[in-house]
Amino acid sequence: MAALYSSVCEKFILPLADVAIHHRVMRSYKFYKESQWWDRQRLISYQNTCLSKTLKIAYKEVPFYKNLYDSYLVDINNVSNITELPLLPFVTKDMLRASYPDKCTRSTKWPWREYCTSGSSGKPFAVRVDNMTMSHARALMLLRTIFSGWNIGEPFLQTGMTLDRGIVKRLKDILMRAQYVSAFNLSDPVLDHYLDLIERKKLKYIMGYAGSMYCLASRASETRCNLKLKGVVSWGDNLYQHYRDKIEKTFGCRVTDTYGCGEGIQIAAQCGLNNGAYHVFMPHVVVEIVDDEGQPVNPGESGNVVLTRLDPGAMPLLRYKVGDIARKSTDESCPCGRGLEMLTKIDGRDTDVIVTPNGNRLIVHFFTGILEYYQSVDTFKVIQEKSGEIIIEIVPRPDFQDTHWEQIKGEILQKGDPHLKIEMKIVKDIPLEISNKRRFVVSMIK
Ligand SMILES: [Zn+2]
Repeated sequence: MAALYSSVCEKFILPLADVAIHHRVMRSYKFYKESQWWDRQRLISYQNTCLSKTLKIAYKEVPFYKNLYDSYLVDINNVSNITELPLLPFVTKDMLRASYPDKCTRSTKWPWREYCTSGSSGKPFAVRVDNMTMSHARALMLLRTIFSGWNIGEPFLQTGMTLDRGIVKRLKDILMRAQYVSAFNLSDPVLDHYLDLIERKKLKYIMGYAGSMYCLASRASETRCNLKLKGVVSWGDNLYQHYRDKIEKTFGCRVTDTYGCGEGIQIAAQCGLNNGAYHVFMPHVVVEIVDDEGQPVNPGESGNVVLTRLDPGAMPLLRYKVGDIARKSTDESCPCGRGLEMLTKIDGRDTDVIVTPNGNRLIVHFFTGILEYYQSVDTFKVIQEKSGEIIIEIVPRPDFQDTHWEQIKGEILQKGDPHLKIEMKIVKDIPLEISNKRRFVVSMIK
């Protein structure tokens, strides 16, 4: 019966829902599901074809790229192959922010939305994403989830930061049989409620931010030792080894960790083999690992992650330096048989959990879920030195006002804990930590 619903959902219900809301998730999903098994050469030649098209569109239709490449005297006709990408300069968040929206976006036939993200750098940043790009990203969210053994239509619990689930999202939750719960509050009574829900609805899969999965597993290990699941999928912050150990031991299943960024790019996910390597979603994104001069480093060596999304969408992202550090695998192939290349390690998502006076646990996405909507904040960092208190360092942009701080503080108190003492510190800069990492939620209380 479950297999039948899964098949009907994948083949009929979700494609129809796509048409109704002007998306193409299931069409993209079908393509990604098939192309993950292509051999490496075929995947690379597909990337080369998409790269040429995307680069030409960006140069012709997006002033930001035309000006940038002209100023670097780059002839884009010389870049027809992914190995020639180092001929192009990097693009950073700061550069895109300075040109947003008029100079770095283009019109497409699809409706678009603006998404706010602070990714892994603590810098609020707006991106324009059209329905086609969003469809690719959502299709890959499905693909990364089936890496865990889950099938479309199987019920699951998801923790997230969107409290206001509009009608379309609520409908999607019903069709997908998702129990969507908030990760804003992760105090013991709330975690108990989520665990009750998992037991009552007989859910076998849970998904969400690594920090929230860890909080849920920690609570389950204290209160109910028999709650076993089939799979856990994590995203967002770093899945530390002790997070993984706790979750896998408590729930008796594997954690599938995934890597994406809020800018409409899904990057990679673990298949569960090859020592936890992450398969890169090659038909969607070119991942380069480069040194500070933009030259590729050898597989196995650490370097900056630079992304090129292969569909131009409403806001092309070409050689976009996302702010993370990673390594490519030295292995050419994986026992799972997928042709997708692999990353072995991803850094840059390090973060801590803040515990509040009333016992709530604030994960990094609690803060990004509030602060990324304030474009007047250039960069932020949350520091807990003493129990019950936090300091928020803010690098302001010129339009930052005291009222913005009052609103930010008000939201943190209301959604997190009214008893938390919060101090703001305006700073000029928030330096990177060793190895270029930016850890933007830091707790000195262990
Ligand atoms: Zn694999």
